[in-house]
Amino acid sequence: MVVVVDTVSATPLRPRHPEKVNRPDALSPPKPDWIRVRAPNTRGYADTRNIVKENGLVTVCEEAGCPNIGECWDKKHATFMIMGDTCTRACAFCNVKTGMPGALDADEPEHIAEATFKLGLAHIVITSVDRDDLADGGAGHFARTIRAIRARCPDTTIEILTPDFLRKEGALETVVAAKPDVFNHNLETVPSHYLTVRPGARYFHSIRLLQRVKEIDPAIFTKSGIMVGLGEERHEVLQVMDDLRSAEVDFLTIGQYLQPTRKHHAVMRYVPPDEFAGLEKVAYTKGFLMVSASPLTRSSHHAGDDFARLRAARAALTR
Ligand code: SF4
Repeated sequence: MVVVVDTVSATPLRPRHPEKVNRPDALSPPKPDWIRVRAPNTRGYADTRNIVKENGLVTVCEEAGCPNIGECWDKKHATFMIMGDTCTRACAFCNVKTGMPGALDADEPEHIAEATFKLGLAHIVITSVDRDDLADGGAGHFARTIRAIRARCPDTTIEILTPDFLRKEGALETVVAAKPDVFNHNLETVPSHYLTVRPGARYFHSIRLLQRVKEIDPAIFTKSGIMVGLGEERHEVLQVMDDLRSAEVDFLTIGQYLQPTRKHHAVMRYVPPDEFAGLEKVAYTKGFLMVSASPLTRSSHHAGDDFARLRAARAALTR
């Protein structure tokens, strides 16, 4: 496992990803026409931004440099990132700052609940940085956040996108006991790319994590996602689908990897939209209740609408 220790965070010139500074630049091909996003300059975007700032919250939309921020924030859809803005892992694809994070903010669950209320969200997505430095990996904080939102906004459905809680015994059980509506944990890439793309994680641990959620509480929807364009082969993507179905995962997302900086993993290929449509079709034949596959698909993109469809798909099965 890679744990990044930050001993110089007080220095203003500290780089965002110190472990990547000495890497050679990785060059990606120019973006194709189909990767187009709306500029973030609407009234709705500004309102969302104000609520995020007023409550002192961190969003993955900003930290990960998500291309959908203009569209999502205009609709008041923001994905909150709890437990700080600094991650203890150092994945090759991710733009979240790396280093040693500070102490947890005990008031954060209430602030998240308040922001959920002010944004009037019917469905909220909460994610976090990896907190390998905490004994429970942050599981207790996730559970407190879910409970705070339930108390403040009882009609809001809650989706969490968690780290893998690797080597944190009992952590998963703590989070599942808080009963999120959707438990999402992303595989990110195919197993052959873990060492270069997601070196701190273990593929089969992540699969097992998702499987355990279903074993403990089958009512919780499970969800996972991968990025394509990192050099994976088609047959590897199909294998990932089979592995996720073996773990009874309900919802699969597949999106195009975009390179945050030249120090991150290069884009090996821009997968055309019709290839995404083909992958979506194959995934449905493998038994997923919901599949979202397109160049700009992200875990939390349209998460509220997708949750409604997910629920309807399950209901249709039991009729
Ligand atoms: S897709 Fe998710 S991370 Fe990206 S802007 Fe929308 S809510 Fe935020």
